[in-house]
Amino acid sequence: AGEEKEEKGDGGNYDIGLQDVHDGVVTRFPPEPSGYLHIGHAKAALLNDYFAHKKYKGTLLLRFDDTNPLKEKQEFEDSIVEDLALMGVKADKVSHTSDYFQELYKYCVQMLKEGTAYADDTLQEKMRDERMNGIASERRDSSVEDNLARFEEMKKGTEEGIRWCIRAKISVDDPNKAMRDPVIYRCSPEEHHRTGSTWKIYPTYDFCCPIIDSIEGVTHALRTTEYKDRDAQYQWMLKALRLRHVYNWDFARMNFIKTLLSKRKLTRIVDTGVVWGWDDPRMPTVRGIRRRGMTIPALQEFILKQGPSKNIVNLDWTTFWATNKKYIDPIAARFTAIASDAKVPVTVVGARAAAHTEEKDKHAKYKELGTKKVVYSSSILLEQADAASFAQDEEITLMNWGNAIVRSISHSINPLSSPAGLKTVTSVELELHLQGDVKKTSKKVTWLSTDQNLIPVDLVDFDYLITKDKLEADDKLEDFLTPHTEFRTHALADCNVAELREDDIIQFDRKGYFRVDRPFKHGEPAVCFQIPTGKTKAGV
Ligand code: ATP
Ligand code: MG
Ligand code: MG
Repeated sequence: AGEEKEEKGDGGNYDIGLQDVHDGVVTRFPPEPSGYLHIGHAKAALLNDYFAHKKYKGTLLLRFDDTNPLKEKQEFEDSIVEDLALMGVKADKVSHTSDYFQELYKYCVQMLKEGTAYADDTLQEKMRDERMNGIASERRDSSVEDNLARFEEMKKGTEEGIRWCIRAKISVDDPNKAMRDPVIYRCSPEEHHRTGSTWKIYPTYDFCCPIIDSIEGVTHALRTTEYKDRDAQYQWMLKALRLRHVYNWDFARMNFIKTLLSKRKLTRIVDTGVVWGWDDPRMPTVRGIRRRGMTIPALQEFILKQGPSKNIVNLDWTTFWATNKKYIDPIAARFTAIASDAKVPVTVVGARAAAHTEEKDKHAKYKELGTKKVVYSSSILLEQADAASFAQDEEITLMNWGNAIVRSISHSINPLSSPAGLKTVTSVELELHLQGDVKKTSKKVTWLSTDQNLIPVDLVDFDYLITKDKLEADDKLEDFLTPHTEFRTHALADCNVAELREDDIIQFDRKGYFRVDRPFKHGEPAVCFQIPTGKTKAGV
């Protein structure tokens, strides 16, 4: 897949560069293994990959940021590795923040010894308050010996140790609040999914990130703009520990309307059974959008086009799916499906008495997609809506066959319908008129001969999971869940559909693009997911 994407698009040059680049750019993607990758993570991963492998000849590191043992799992780690591969992102090296627990511990001891960090047991609320108001902690000037002793208690995970944390001694009242003595170590008795019970102390992101970036050789640390205030703190850590310089480069967080991009909220959606799982086509995970029919080159193109912007906008899915359409149209073979509960039996007068089959192109424009079987006979099915629109003696076009004239229409009146007494077409008689000009008719209708193995297929469309464009911090997720997000239509499709395989992307005439989620097997219907194109309802 790596080579494939090189040929498409504009060769991957999106005109974004890094500051002060010499040889050997090194970037890193640092996911926390606490959920599956979502489209926001995809942006971070693809941008890092772009600089390391496309724009410059450099190195990409994948680092699992596993400092929060409560939330992390091996399952998530494995899924991240798979999803990156799926996106064509190949890390040159893989590491874990936890690989560095010993070094990080030593760096913390060094800071305590040099007086650039101190142990603090101020209660959380009070600490927040002091930081807000620029007040020094009572512990700020404790002796080196006391600080070291407290860190050792923390390391042992004793009852005393758990009360303490370690803070960098940067500033009490810097206007940039990120500089107000941030916490760099916490004591936590939890087991870690990789280091087990070895450690009772866990470094914070603010501490690990600059140190590991520097010792792993990262030249440019890409971070989302909400970390901008913490760049100064990052640089302070490097200086305090006399570590090699690393550049910070900011990019905008990616947000979409009516879409949750927080692992915490997505976990809740999965755990409460609102969706089938992390790879549900309604999920904004890499797996979810791919299952919905997003192709990887389109994802790459879309994301890299957003690349340099630092504006945080709430993106609309429309452009995303419109980008995808460019990639799927040339690969989508065309078939026919008719809704099962709205099918109308039709007799075609003038068709040959015996059914016959012809090989036709799967796509009139893209002949390389090959051919399919089209069965012609005097017994066909039409869609109810099409049949109901016909007028007596009207000339219409049967797609890929030719013109026909409507000779008779039979109706039934449905007393139970609302409004009551709706007319339903029960049968139609058409007379072939193949010499008619297909350019002159206004109705081109899809049809299926009943003299073939019609394949049952479920056509499934989806809506957004949430009803509000942007959830605010105090909005309760449960209040904004869309009650009904799955729309399933049972249909019958032409015999060729029996041969489709999982992941095939196709088009049903006049119905749009679909991805085959489950092929037809053992008489069980095939399941096809509607792929949004930007024009129709574009829910994810
Ligand atoms: P979440 O809130 O979904 O848990 P996170 O930032 O806590 O996101 P991480 O696993 O730490 O999750 O993220 C890995 C990388 O992906 C980080 O570099 C982070 O900046 C980036 N990232 C996360 N969400 C987005 C987003 N919406 N847009 C762009 N980058 C993102
Ligand atoms: Mg994070
Ligand atoms: Mg988060």
